[in-house]
Amino acid sequence: MPPRVVVVGLASDFGCQVQMTNIEDQLLDVLGRIELSYWQLASSGHMPEEYDVAIVEGAVTTGEHVALLERIRATASAVIAIGACAVTGGIPALATSGSLDDHYACVYGEGDVEVACGRIAPMPITSVIDVEYRVPGCPIDMDEFTQVLSRALQGLSDCIPREPMCAICKTLENICFYERGEVCLGLITRTGCNARCITLGRPCTGCRGLAEDANLESAILLLAERGVSREDLMTRARLYNTLEEAFTR
Ligand code: SF4
Ligand code: SF4
Repeated sequence: MPPRVVVVGLASDFGCQVQMTNIEDQLLDVLGRIELSYWQLASSGHMPEEYDVAIVEGAVTTGEHVALLERIRATASAVIAIGACAVTGGIPALATSGSLDDHYACVYGEGDVEVACGRIAPMPITSVIDVEYRVPGCPIDMDEFTQVLSRALQGLSDCIPREPMCAICKTLENICFYERGEVCLGLITRTGCNARCITLGRPCTGCRGLAEDANLESAILLLAERGVSREDLMTRARLYNTLEEAFTR
């Protein structure tokens, strides 16, 4: 029997699942090797009781999400977290800055509002369960996603890149934004998207998270030489990485 795969979305705009619908050709090759048992964005049926691989998008924002993740973890032999929301908390985790109650009142007004599903502070799924594979980014890079899914189907280990973006950016012969007096977070951000934004003419905003091999202190010094304060750098980096401890110091 081919591996049974489910695709589940938690708190997010489902942008990564939409990305998946944009790569029919690549995906068809993989789909020929799996049984796609449930795809929250694209199926009308219910999630099955049994499956082998779970692809999960989105941040955890409710007790229901926690319970669902625990069921997924108990069922799937491999879990793939896709997108910044699932891997680092992404944009939803911005709500952890300041008081959650104040944010809630700002959106829904003062007074008693019935809170469905047990609201909790947003966090990545990796804070709730262990996952075998991570595909970071907002949205995910589809080449990377198909590679990771293929690795999961073959039982190979995760291969998330550790290096920052600059090396690949240089090989693509992009002109560095620092040469133009603009701030780019590529120097501390995990590579793997083929320097997508930079090649399209926009600085990296850090959606793939802090690279393990990044030298943050050197980056802080380099930016200081260019008149950008540590706090400014941290504020920019927290856009997708509010919960990254290195960006809170
Ligand atoms: S800082 Fe940004 S633009 Fe400059 S080399 Fe690194 S990734 Fe490329
Ligand atoms: S260049 Fe930076 S912001 Fe753009 S997709 Fe890659 S990691 Fe994300």
